[in-house]
Amino acid sequence: MVTVHAAWTVTNHEKRYEEKEEELSMSRVYNFSAGPAVLPEEVLKEAAEEMLDYKGCGMSVMEMSHRSKDFQDIIDEAEKDLRELMNIPDNYKVLFVQGGGHVQFAMVPMNLMKNKVGDYIITGQWAKKAYTEAKLFGTANAVASSADRTFSYIPDCSDLPIDENADYVYICLNNTIYGTVYHELPNTKGKTLVADISSCFLSEPIDVSKFGILWGGVQKNVGPAGVAIVIIREDLITEDVLPGTPTMLRYKTYADNDSLFNTPPTYTIYMCGKVFKWLKKMGGLEVMKERNEKKAKILYDFLDESRLFRGTVEKKDRSLMNVPFVTGDEELDALFVKEAKAAGFVNLKGHRTVGGMRASIYNAMPIEGVEALVEFMREFEKKHAK
Ligand SMILES: *Cc1c(COP(=O)(O)O)cnc(C)c1O
Repeated sequence: MVTVHAAWTVTNHEKRYEEKEEELSMSRVYNFSAGPAVLPEEVLKEAAEEMLDYKGCGMSVMEMSHRSKDFQDIIDEAEKDLRELMNIPDNYKVLFVQGGGHVQFAMVPMNLMKNKVGDYIITGQWAKKAYTEAKLFGTANAVASSADRTFSYIPDCSDLPIDENADYVYICLNNTIYGTVYHELPNTKGKTLVADISSCFLSEPIDVSKFGILWGGVQKNVGPAGVAIVIIREDLITEDVLPGTPTMLRYKTYADNDSLFNTPPTYTIYMCGKVFKWLKKMGGLEVMKERNEKKAKILYDFLDESRLFRGTVEKKDRSLMNVPFVTGDEELDALFVKEAKAAGFVNLKGHRTVGGMRASIYNAMPIEGVEALVEFMREFEKKHAK
């Protein structure tokens, strides 16, 4: 009886899904959200297909024990694929940690501040928040900043006043809100470099060995919200953490238990794993880089020649992932956002500190999405340029 019932449900579901499928993909918008953000349609479809019955085990991944063999395979494979994609050296651990970016703002100082000193380069809101959080635990120095011009550039980091007692130098590699990226890493004068890579995670190859810690919240360019992936050099994982550091805020807890000390966000890890497979299928990070450069160029080239729109960032520091732009007229900006939304280009409103618009064009944004956006901008320009 049970089997018959299950079969009936699945068949019925499949039928309904097929009927709806065309309608479903027709109604999907181009989503330029900074995060949570667009995911590859192929991945979403695959997850939908496996929703009721993951590989014949008769249940969804959401309903599965994190101690089961099926889930162990999911997390093991996710880590293996990520290591392969990023070419992560053997002396680095990969940790899946809950609490998102903000928990990493605290975990970094709690685990790394042996001398109680951290040097921070302030290139935007997320770097500043990390810096402010670090002050709860010790001395945080702002060794450089681009606040003077609304974070529209990356400061010169070739000769910074690094504290000789600094336990680490901290950067936000790609600045989600302001649309800047480091094209050259700072000279840390031998100190451990820690980087938040949330909004450029897996967008291009990166030399992991240059960093002590690379961490990223996955909800920008990798998967659904719920996990920060921490890639950390083994010698930085110690028992010697700040007094009172809770068990769940010690990197060692995750490292010693392969991220399974307690119940991890199983579904998010499963979805990240699917995105890693998709990236491998696409050809890996070299190919993604080329693709992302091509996509960003379409938008930047248009901004550079436009009589109405302009980018807000210094050209040399432009991000491949987040592209802020303005018309220079707040009312016109608001009209553009409204009309774009009605035309199926959503989440283009810029951050309140920059104003205007921002298009986040992560890995999963197809090139057609950027082309169509530029076409829409061209039409808007014809109507409104003076
Ligand atoms: C979104 C974002 C964060 C904050 O992440 P939460 O998971 O919301 O805490 C931190 N850093 C960067 C670069 C981000 O883009």
